[in-house]
Amino acid sequence: MRLKVGFLLLATAVTLAVWFYPKSVPREEIEVRPVGEQVRLYRHAGGIIETIPLEEYVVGVVAAEMPASFPFEALKAQAVAARTYTLRRVVSHGVENNPHPGSDLCDDPRHSQAYYSRQELKNTWGALKYYRYYYKVKQAVSETAGLVITHNGQLIDPVYHASCGGRTENAGDVWKFDIPYLKSVACPYDENTRLIEQKSFTFVELKQALAPREALASASGRLNTEGLTLIVTDKTATGRPKEIAVSGVPVAATTLRERLGLKSTKFTWDIREDHVSFTTFGYGHGVGLCQYGAKGMADHGSSFDDILHHYYTGVRIVNY
Ligand SMILES: [Zn+2]
Ligand SMILES: [Zn+2]
Repeated sequence: MRLKVGFLLLATAVTLAVWFYPKSVPREEIEVRPVGEQVRLYRHAGGIIETIPLEEYVVGVVAAEMPASFPFEALKAQAVAARTYTLRRVVSHGVENNPHPGSDLCDDPRHSQAYYSRQELKNTWGALKYYRYYYKVKQAVSETAGLVITHNGQLIDPVYHASCGGRTENAGDVWKFDIPYLKSVACPYDENTRLIEQKSFTFVELKQALAPREALASASGRLNTEGLTLIVTDKTATGRPKEIAVSGVPVAATTLRERLGLKSTKFTWDIREDHVSFTTFGYGHGVGLCQYGAKGMADHGSSFDDILHHYYTGVRIVNY
């Protein structure tokens, strides 16, 4: 309701602005579209902006972000999260410092959410699976049409990841700020053993990966290749490494993950002779909705709203 009133005020203000503004102002800057009807999506492959109806866009996101073989309630939870993520960006007229001006979102999961068009899904799945999967995802989206997640009356930023490995993380332990609805919760049904991975690096490779870091540049001499030590100097509330002293040089676990291409910060290691071997558990940053956990909950009879209430603390599921 507050959002609707807010939008009405915004619409009135913009109408007045258009009325009084010189005609030379580019239309893009003053345009207001009916909220939630269309998404302007920047497609990286072609470098173009496509305008797609919201619910159709959400189908393409769910199909790209979650295996369509997952249980129906997990797909519905993903649909509501994807819609909320999208509307948050459409309503505020795109993101700050938008790398693709004129768009609301793009299709690169590192900037935004992954998205596949129908044709791309046909190519990915093949014709047979396409008919089964596309309509399954489409039904998950239409059964939750218009539903979004709010906290204190505001659309939340419904971050999600593949697998937390048993317990999700507090936002503040992974990023800079605590967010009240992104709190660590148990994830009892996330038992995907395929998401345990081992990766080995020689001391030289480890040093090279970390050397470009500003904090390490001056101290890189201390990262000698012999007698490398790794000591956890700070842990997150869930016990993941948060900061590690690499031969005495402090490195954030998130930086180590990024630099070494590890699947998550939930890792252990083993140092032998001239190399170090990392074992990671889960996949992704571990904050918010855990997709494999959602699958497990759905397999054990939870509904999509049970799943969303579990991973996003203190939220409401409302009709937008
Ligand atoms: Zn992008
Ligand atoms: Zn999990």
